[in-house]
This record gives sequence, C-alpha cells and structure tokens, in this order.
Amino acid sequence: MDLYEYQGKELFTRAGIPVSEGRVATTPEEARQAAEELGGPVVVKAQVLVGGRGKAGGIKLADTPTEAESHAAEILGMDIRGHVVRRLWIEKAWDIAKEYYLSVTFDRGEKKPLFILTTAGGIDIEEVAEKNPGALARLHVDPLVGSQPWQARWLIFTSGIEDPDEQKQVAAIVEKLYGAFVDFDAMLCEVNPLIVTPAGEVRALDSKFTVDDNALFRHPDVAEMRDVEAADPQERLAREKGVTYVKLDGEIGILGNGAGLVMATLDVIDQVGGRPANFCDLGGGGDAQGVVDALEVITSDEQVQAIVFNIFGGITRCNEVAQGILTALGQMTIEHPIVVRLDGTNAAEGRQMLVEAAPPNLHVEETMLSAAEKVVSLR
Ligand code: GDP
Ligand code: MN
Repeated sequence: MDLYEYQGKELFTRAGIPVSEGRVATTPEEARQAAEELGGPVVVKAQVLVGGRGKAGGIKLADTPTEAESHAAEILGMDIRGHVVRRLWIEKAWDIAKEYYLSVTFDRGEKKPLFILTTAGGIDIEEVAEKNPGALARLHVDPLVGSQPWQARWLIFTSGIEDPDEQKQVAAIVEKLYGAFVDFDAMLCEVNPLIVTPAGEVRALDSKFTVDDNALFRHPDVAEMRDVEAADPQERLAREKGVTYVKLDGEIGILGNGAGLVMATLDVIDQVGGRPANFCDLGGGGDAQGVVDALEVITSDEQVQAIVFNIFGGITRCNEVAQGILTALGQMTIEHPIVVRLDGTNAAEGRQMLVEAAPPNLHVEETMLSAAEKVVSLR
C-alpha cells in the first residue's frame, strides 16, 4: 500500500525524522487557512500516489495565504499522470542549499534491504542510476542483524558528504529511516530530496512510503490511511470481498485455484490468442460464496467478454467446486459465456454435475488448452 507524502511524513515524524510542519487541505479556502496558521512562505503540494509532481506543476511555492489559495485552486483537480488531485499538503517552505537522496528498499535478488544515498538528489533517481551510477552509495543490510552505525558512516563517506555537522544529522536519519522501514513493515522508504538548509539543518522534504499489504493487520492505524477513492474500483471491490484479484487489460475473465495455476492460465489464454482481463485466485476454497464474490468482481469489469474457470482438485474436490459454481449461478445472473475446466480429485463427478445441470451459457472442458481455446472462441 502506497502512502501519500503527508502520511509518510507522519510516520517519519513518529520515527524521529525531521519534516516540516503542515496541514492537509481539500479546498482553496482550507489552503489559505493552513497558510495563515503556518505563517510565512509555504509550499502547496499535490497529494497523489505518483512521483514527479514537481515537474508536472503539482508543487508551488506561495509567499502569502492569498497566493496559497490561488495555487491550491490551480492544483486541485489537476491530472498528474492519470491521478486526479483531491488533496493538498500545505507545509512551511524551506530554503534549500543542497538536495540529497536517501532510501531503503528491498533488493529481491539479494533478499536484503538496500540503502541508497547520493548527494545528487532532488531529481529522478532513475536518471542518476543510468547516467551516473558511481554517484550512488549502495549498501545492503543483513535483516537479521539490522542496520549498524558503521553502515550509516560508510554510506555518508562513500557518497561524499564532508561537513561533520551534516554527517551527524544524516547518520541519525539513516538509522531512523531503517527503524521506520522495519517498524512499519515497509517495502520502500524514500526521501527525495533530503535537504540541507542554508543554516545547515538536514530535513526530509518529500516522502515515498510503501507498506507491505500483508503486514497491514499489524498496523491498523496505517491500514486506515488507505484512500479508497484512489483505488481501482474492481480492486477495491475485491479487497472488500477478500478476493485475491489483480486487474489486467484483456477481455477473458479468469478464475483458478492456486496462484501458479492462475499464472499458467494467463499464459495459455495468451498462447491461444486471447488477452486475460484479470488474475483471480479462488485459493483452496471454491465454496459458493467464494465463487459468487469472485464472479461479482470479475463481471464488474466492463471489458470482460467471457470467463474461464481453471480448477485443479487436490485437497479441493472438483465436485464441491462444481456445486459452488452451480449455487453461485443460481444466485446471480451472468450473461457472459463461462467455460469450466475441472481436473484432479473428483473431476469426473464435478463435470457430470455441470453437464446435468446444463446452464445455457456454461461449457465444460477437460484440459486447460481446450478450455482456453473454447473461451477465446466464445468471446
Ligand atoms: P516530487 O516532484 O513529486 O518528487 O515532489 P517533491 O516533494 O520532491 O518536490 C519537488 C521539488 O519541489 C523539490 O525537489 C524542491 O526543489 C521543490 N520544493 C519542495 N518543497 C520545497 C520547499 O519547502 N522549499 C523550496 N525552496 N523548494 C521546495
Ligand atoms: Mn520528491
């Protein structure tokens, strides 16, 4: 789950990382009020779950509350790479002497958290990585040992931060950022830019914070930060219903049991010339309610033209899944053609049940390939 900048900064504050004082605003009037309360120059910042807001015109400095109000009017409603701005973060502006970049993320290849620190901050880190990879100080952390003080020092010396006072502040922030990364079960904690003010103070001017969805049960307060309006409507419905679902952009709705089987189904649909509309894993269940929930999510996608079930019965029995499908079809009206492939435990029995019940739009197949060919021909 991605957090907005202001939410990430709230977690930074809890971790002891210095950020600017600010307020959320959803109207130009609130922006003016926020600027009045904060006093002095402020920055009006679009809150969207996408980077590069500065370049897109979503970040503007304001010297007066009136200016903050007019900037807010401009930025609210703006479309930043497909994300409509509905919230603003108004914060005290700082003069910037230097812009650094600091992050902790997961390096899946190494199976370890990875620190990146560079004095070439402020701009696209991808660009720095491509054009000037030597400017990045990169260091892995052993997750069992945790980050060690020498690691912060190594990062600082390697990236070429020379001022002792700055070094001390950056070292503290490095340690605290790792603390936040672990404490909140994050996948990414990024500060770009990490600034040094003309007076030599180091502060986090931006935040990108991604928390592992699978750990949200440990952080109910963070889970509550989710902006349900920003989510894809199908994925939101799926989350509410507890369905494992990822929207894709094709026209064949897919349900399978087990992530591996669903992945294989995506490939086979592609192989026979179709395009998957989604990834949807029924898991070990396949009871009627699970099937109803999954079908509701899949058919809420207007691009879907036909649906394929790909079920391999292991512990799950195909006759029970067949019963689930029939019960679900009795509870809801589905116009789309549906192809069901059942294999494994009690497959023959399950297929028999479907053939006997014979709902008009239901087609039974024995193999994954024939089911894929059938569903693509019916779309
Ligand atoms: P991003 O473009 O989405 O990464 O948004 P950032 O929060 O990183 O802001 C982009 C840029 O706006 C920063 O790199 C700064 O140059 C500028 N900026 C943001 N806040 C301030 C501020 O308080 N003072 C000044 N002078 N510039 C700021
Ligand atoms: Mn930034």
